[in-house]
Amino acid sequence: MTLSASTPISAIRFDHHFARHLPGEDGPPLVPRQVHSACWSYVPPTPVAEPRLLAWSDALAGTLGLAAPDDSVAAVLAGNRLLPGMKPVAACYGGHQFGQWAGQLGDGRAIVLGDLTAPDGQRWELQLKGAGLTPYSRRADGRAVLRSSLREYVCSEAMHHLGVPTTRALALVGTGEAVLRDMFYDGRAEMEPGAIVTRVAPSFVRFGNFEIFASRGDHERLRQLADYVIRHFFPEIDPNDPERHAQWFAEVARRTAVLMAHWLRVGFVHGVMNTDNLSILGLTIDYGPFGWIDVFDPDFTPNTTDRGGRYAYAQQPAVAQWNLMRLAEALLPLVGDQEALAAGLEDYGDTFEQEWRRQALAKVGLVPGAARGEETLVAELLGALTLTEVDTTRFFRALIEVNPNALPDDGLPAALTGSFYTPDRLPDGFIRRLRDWLGAWAARLDADGVDDATRRTLMASTNPWIIPRNYLLQEAINAAAAGDLSLLETLMTATREPYREQPEHGHLAARRPDWARHAPGCSALSCSS
Ligand code: AMP
Ligand code: MG
Repeated sequence: MTLSASTPISAIRFDHHFARHLPGEDGPPLVPRQVHSACWSYVPPTPVAEPRLLAWSDALAGTLGLAAPDDSVAAVLAGNRLLPGMKPVAACYGGHQFGQWAGQLGDGRAIVLGDLTAPDGQRWELQLKGAGLTPYSRRADGRAVLRSSLREYVCSEAMHHLGVPTTRALALVGTGEAVLRDMFYDGRAEMEPGAIVTRVAPSFVRFGNFEIFASRGDHERLRQLADYVIRHFFPEIDPNDPERHAQWFAEVARRTAVLMAHWLRVGFVHGVMNTDNLSILGLTIDYGPFGWIDVFDPDFTPNTTDRGGRYAYAQQPAVAQWNLMRLAEALLPLVGDQEALAAGLEDYGDTFEQEWRRQALAKVGLVPGAARGEETLVAELLGALTLTEVDTTRFFRALIEVNPNALPDDGLPAALTGSFYTPDRLPDGFIRRLRDWLGAWAARLDADGVDDATRRTLMASTNPWIIPRNYLLQEAINAAAAGDLSLLETLMTATREPYREQPEHGHLAARRPDWARHAPGCSALSCSS
């Protein structure tokens, strides 16, 4: 049903579109097992001891047409109380993890309650992450801890405000239950506070939802799922066109390419880009051991489980393409024609190149043109930035303040000083290369006739002033665990307008403090969540 401007969640009549349109099953819900011939399993959430609403995204609630939370909301978003129309289901999917086919994975702790239609007509599914055991829990407990839930909650919303396609987060609920976790898989397990995040997206379907059916030769289910996704989420494709599956694959590839360019632009490292963690809608999904680059380093990954750096910052576009190849293989029974899928993969490459060029140039105040050397201008800058410890986010904001028509005769513009971690010990080679680059940049701005106001506006709407840095999230987690939610709220407020300089939140846009350099949760994370 469609909502009026502001409806209490308990007054909504939910639908369960995914479960209504696709085949499912209702075998024993809490027993880990292989599930065949079903897109979903019926699984009521396992109630928790003491649900408590810790955070609520007003921004998303506004979009959904939801009224401010009342006392009943915590019970609903903890999974303790189902509302009319809801049908809780966990999805069946498989995936390639770190390059290997891993078989059935599925929603091991995430349960979609149902969906609602926002005032603007958009349908949104509500999913609880950490809502208890499902047939897909394998040997795990179906729960999630406060630290990872808080990180997902804050960053889903921050990414949205950064203009990056993402699943959203409506709420963070404490469960009042403790969860046992071995954070670094080193035998030092501890009890941690449990929490549930309410994730919201038009659909949570991943590449792996298709891979599981292809791997089992279940082409019937494969086709049903593909046609469901095309019909409901890709309105630009004619659902009766015999070529629709190939057209759709190409569109998935293009959306994924756009997403990769955004991640590079804002300095986001997903951390675990397995095929079960790539959204068919091109959204950022499954915030786990992700992080933001503080010091510019193409090889950075916060995920200590990823020893080879497979999912490091600069690897992400190539890995997305690898994942698309796995998706293409899964779709081959529907498309039949390898060439058609290869064309989609080519679209990925072309779109990524085009989109990254556009976003990368915008970071330095330029728009794509025919100029020679355009492809390398930003690459040269990024290369120079690896020669010393440069704070990526601060650097690009500081560059706005550099006047390209008044570069200093020697040394670097004073405006940049605050973006270096060791401003007193900058290597000569770095200074030289950055000076050369600044000269080339100024020449290019001049040649393109970009006036300074245009340059500044473009740069300021492309380079965030604030991102929820890893150490800030960790500080918010520590405070929340001690019962203080103020830092979490401040982070949510400040990241709601990430491109606006907010002097009152200046401390949130500072360089990463030294203590956070190697601290767990700040620069080192794992899949344990
Ligand atoms: P990830 O790569 O972290 O997104 O998760 C890989 C698989 O493990 C997915 O099928 C998850 O649902 C499952 N999983 C992760 N943590 C848990 C947990 N605590 N309980 C049950 N399943 C989990
Ligand atoms: Mg996952």
